[in-house]
Amino acid sequence: MSRAAGYEWRLFAETEAHLYRRALLDPDLYWPPMLLAWCEEERQEPLGHERTAISADRIAAPSATVRCPRCSGLLLDANAVARGERGVRGGQG
Ligand SMILES: [Zn+2]
Repeated sequence: MSRAAGYEWRLFAETEAHLYRRALLDPDLYWPPMLLAWCEEERQEPLGHERTAISADRIAAPSATVRCPRCSGLLLDANAVARGERGVRGGQG
């Protein structure tokens, strides 16, 4: 299964759609207070997004104007890896 299955699109600050870990988006959770978008997870100094700034509802297919290009790239890579088209990410991005 694709690693992407563990993530879903949500709107941050009503302007940017990022992928967040599904398991941490449970509305009954309030810890950690800051969530990392997928695009931030591998950064050296990741920036968290406040839960309250992340939309309550999943976005099925965010439009290109709001979609984070780095999250989109990670999603495509993960799906390609899951289909066996590509090795695990490293050195290609
Ligand atoms: Zn992102």
